[in-house]
Amino acid sequence: MRQSQLFPKTIKQAPAGAVAVNHKLLVRAGFVDQLMAGSWTLLPLGWRVINKINNIIREEMNATGAEEVLMPLMHPKEVWEETGRWNSASEIMYKLRDVREKDLALAFTHEEIVLDLVRKHLQSYSDLPIKIYHFSTKFRNEPRATGGILRGREFMMKDLYSLHATEEDFWKYYEEVKEAYLKIFSRLGLNAIMTEASGGVFTDKHTHEFQVEAVSGEDTIYVDKTGKGINKEIFAGTEAEYKKITAIEVGNIFAFGTYYSEKMGVYFTDKDGNKKPVWFGSYGIGPTRVMGTIVEVFHDEKGIVWPESVAPYKYHLIGLNGKGEDLYRKLQDNGVEVLFDDRDVSAGEKFTDADLIGIPFRLVVSDKTGDKVEIKNRKTGETKLESLNVILHE
Ligand code: ATP
Ligand code: MG
Repeated sequence: MRQSQLFPKTIKQAPAGAVAVNHKLLVRAGFVDQLMAGSWTLLPLGWRVINKINNIIREEMNATGAEEVLMPLMHPKEVWEETGRWNSASEIMYKLRDVREKDLALAFTHEEIVLDLVRKHLQSYSDLPIKIYHFSTKFRNEPRATGGILRGREFMMKDLYSLHATEEDFWKYYEEVKEAYLKIFSRLGLNAIMTEASGGVFTDKHTHEFQVEAVSGEDTIYVDKTGKGINKEIFAGTEAEYKKITAIEVGNIFAFGTYYSEKMGVYFTDKDGNKKPVWFGSYGIGPTRVMGTIVEVFHDEKGIVWPESVAPYKYHLIGLNGKGEDLYRKLQDNGVEVLFDDRDVSAGEKFTDADLIGIPFRLVVSDKTGDKVEIKNRKTGETKLESLNVILHE
């Protein structure tokens, strides 16, 4: 990609009123744009990062045997009344009425929709387990949509749902998803602490959250010596035995037992011909919140420092003295992801923007570098001269 053609340009000043680091840096560097409180456009650079995050999540979901689908975002009132959540979740749910006077809800989660879907297709135990997930927008009437893209009123979620014939099969898969989540967050460059928490509007039982330590985190958790966390909401231990930290919740998994399936009549026939409700769980990760969390954790005074696995490009090529075209073409031909700063601006401006955007490796070609390329690691600051071949084939 040529930076001269990239939309939009970087911004020198943080937007008025921005407090969170992710808000300031993601807007200034041109990854996101705010429409109103809690509502964001993912710009070309931001969309590339989200796609990298989503592909990592997708690979690990598929590895558990789950299948990807896409479910509707506008739901009929009736399906939400079956579980009582049309009323009990009304604080968080956006509701609307269409011109035919039909009451609708905008998706804040999809348990009811999945159960409605499955009951139409489920007969016997041999149809189970079912594991389906999607990436889509969630709408939530968050009272305080602050913290940049960490808390949207409209945000992206990957939500996985699993349905099982037996309790044993359910818990086996629940543990598998826990492992998959730890793997996902580690691939995303994040150290996620598995944390016991309460269930919010979903369930009376405990749930498991995945929390990332950050000074800006809204949650307080107590971490024990083995590295497991307990959310302050349910903490009942002796403080001295734990490390108390603030953290951002990036994922949350829920066991519902047969509570919702009984309410919605999602039954199957078991081996002995008995009618039984399915065991049900749901598993969420917020990719947009993950992007914000990564910025909260990985930045310095100059800008963002993307982990390589989610960076919008691997290389940020800067051509000085009219150089760079040749290397850009070769990198493109080799399928290497590169942002080429071909703009007619000063070297200083190019370097400042490169630090702000935070691509892992900066390449400079100029009169001074001769037949070599200067490569600078954004994270360590280490600079060296490298031959073209090494960079093309790394
Ligand atoms: P919180 O406690 O932060 O409000 P939650 O527990 O209500 O979040 P879940 O229903 O568990 O959220 O949603 C699953 C995941 O979706 C969360 O772990 C988080 O990554 C993401 N998420 C939830 N709410 C938001 C939001 N308002 N904006 C962005 N991402 C969100
Ligand atoms: Mg949660």
